[in-house]
Amino acid sequence: SPQQESAVAGPAGTGPTAPAQAAHQVEGASSQIEVPPKLIDQVIGQERAVEVIRKAATQRRHVMMIGSPGTGKSMLAKAMAELLPKEELQDIMVYPNSDDPNNPIIRTVAAGRGKQIVAAHKIEAKKKVQFRNTLLLILIIGIIGYAFITMQWLMGIIAAAFVFMALRYTMPREEAMVPKLLVANDVKSNAPFIDGTGSHAGALLGDVRHDPFQSGGLETPAHDRVEAGAIHRSNCGVLFIDEINTLDPHSQQNLLTALQEGEFPITGQSERSSGAMVRTEPVPCRFVMVAAGNLDAIQGMHPALRSRIRGYGYEVYMAESMEDTPENQQKYIRFIAQEVKNDGKIPHFDKSAIDEIIREARRRSNRKGHLTLKLRDMGGLIRVAGDIARQEGATLTTAAHVITAKKTARSIEDQVSDEVTRHLREYEMTVVEGTRVGRVNGLAVTGSDAGSVLPIMAEVTPAIGKEGGEVIATGLLKEIAQESIKNVSAILKKFTGKDVKNIDIHIQFIGTYMGIEGDSASISVATAVISAIEGIPVRQDLAMTGSLSVRGDVLPVGGVTYKIEAAAKAGIKTVLIPRMNINDVLIEEQYKSKITIIPVDTIDEVLKHALVPENMDGFLSKLKKMAVRSTSAFAEAP
Ligand code: ADP
Repeated sequence: SPQQESAVAGPAGTGPTAPAQAAHQVEGASSQIEVPPKLIDQVIGQERAVEVIRKAATQRRHVMMIGSPGTGKSMLAKAMAELLPKEELQDIMVYPNSDDPNNPIIRTVAAGRGKQIVAAHKIEAKKKVQFRNTLLLILIIGIIGYAFITMQWLMGIIAAAFVFMALRYTMPREEAMVPKLLVANDVKSNAPFIDGTGSHAGALLGDVRHDPFQSGGLETPAHDRVEAGAIHRSNCGVLFIDEINTLDPHSQQNLLTALQEGEFPITGQSERSSGAMVRTEPVPCRFVMVAAGNLDAIQGMHPALRSRIRGYGYEVYMAESMEDTPENQQKYIRFIAQEVKNDGKIPHFDKSAIDEIIREARRRSNRKGHLTLKLRDMGGLIRVAGDIARQEGATLTTAAHVITAKKTARSIEDQVSDEVTRHLREYEMTVVEGTRVGRVNGLAVTGSDAGSVLPIMAEVTPAIGKEGGEVIATGLLKEIAQESIKNVSAILKKFTGKDVKNIDIHIQFIGTYMGIEGDSASISVATAVISAIEGIPVRQDLAMTGSLSVRGDVLPVGGVTYKIEAAAKAGIKTVLIPRMNINDVLIEEQYKSKITIIPVDTIDEVLKHALVPENMDGFLSKLKKMAVRSTSAFAEAP
């Protein structure tokens, strides 16, 4: 009809995304990208995992995926369900067992048949009930009629009541004989994908509900109270369990049994309920298992379960980033288009917005020449940017929207770190000008993106203990401090002429609310200690990060971009970083003018930049001696 035609050709014909329609004209926008229909083809950057999933789907093998959250593990599991054959799908029915009501019977039929069978049974039961009721009515009318004629009222009433009771309670309850459809499938749909993450035993393995009325004709028949678990609902499909190690050991043991047997009876999971008396015949559960988790998951996992998956399947490690090539950038653009399409409400991204997202992907990768694959977070950023554009009534999302969104879509750690910085500044615990003896502005990173300035204080006293000097610190700092002091002791001795064996070194981190990780504070610790021993002041408008080798080399550390940004935010002017990290620096434009980044190779360079000695000549000659030492520390070490 002409109406239909105009609907197809007309500008308003594409439905709710009218802004996206306008976007079609824009060169390089995400609206020009075709989104592949199959989920497996939408996965980006995880080529190895995709290949494994394809292979595992055709062979019906189990898969274990290890990697960071938001890299596409559950997406791949879902994609695998799409790839599994549909022909084999089954419905599972549970029937009452007249010989033993507590042992309901299990039957499987072809997908879609279950619904028909239950409907047929219901009609049959209804007919029988109708017949019984009619019979009852005729009998009672007969008795009343007879009583009316013979005038024997009392006898009549007693007889009617007797007949009613007899029929009501002795005839089988037809409704109770109708089977229950335990697991329903549709021939047309894909193989089931069931997410069993965080399930308790009942939800995972099936359960039998408690019946408060256990007799007297009011009880719900046992088979009607049987509920399928995730393992049964995923029969012929995929069972996905993330954070597999958090599943309690008993459930892991049962899961293993289910995997081995391909069937698992359903019984009541709470011991004191009436459900615990019921146990069905084995219920089929031939699922493909996709287990996921981070690296810790391997340790926390039941060893037998892991070896089962390994022996009958594949293990994949998820990539966290991919190389920043034009080809991969193109994939990233497709990812943006996918997220826009899936959301359905936000406007498409123009070229400037796409560039800004890719820039952010580079930053978040924390690695030179790479793009992050932690795509759940990136998806969040895309949605926030799109929402901002939508609120403004814009037809396209632009770079400006993405930049605003970045301020909103920040991790909890990053927000906490900002709060702490503000707090510290209020109490003047952050010092970002002048000089101090024994105090160094170190830098730390919490989570994946929360940088913070971490002041370290050192003080030295003559050793009290008989065994010689000690490093006095608490918690993790003690380990970092001991390690870095051990590393620099030779250098220290040459520089200061003092043996650390004769002094106690007290070290503390100031105002840390968050955990410290790794040894990226070791050059800060060493600098603070040298400053304390020598009484040479440290520049406070300078911050540093770096790990220290025994030879006095400054080694690369993680999270430099976020650390530098935190320093700039706190008002620090100069930052020292390991030279080997220089390519990982991808700080935001706004910080570039605020801070000078100096790459360093060795501890003496660090000291040269950070310390402000009164006796410059003496200092320099000591440094020189140390520099010689640092290249041959091993050879000369006693
Ligand atoms: P995980 O299970 O690893 O925690 P998900 O699969 O739940 O991560 O990912 C969450 C969302 O992030 C997905 O729905 C998808 O939109 C997006 N996503 C994650 N990884 C990818 C990927 N490799 N390719 C495309 N989109 C992805």
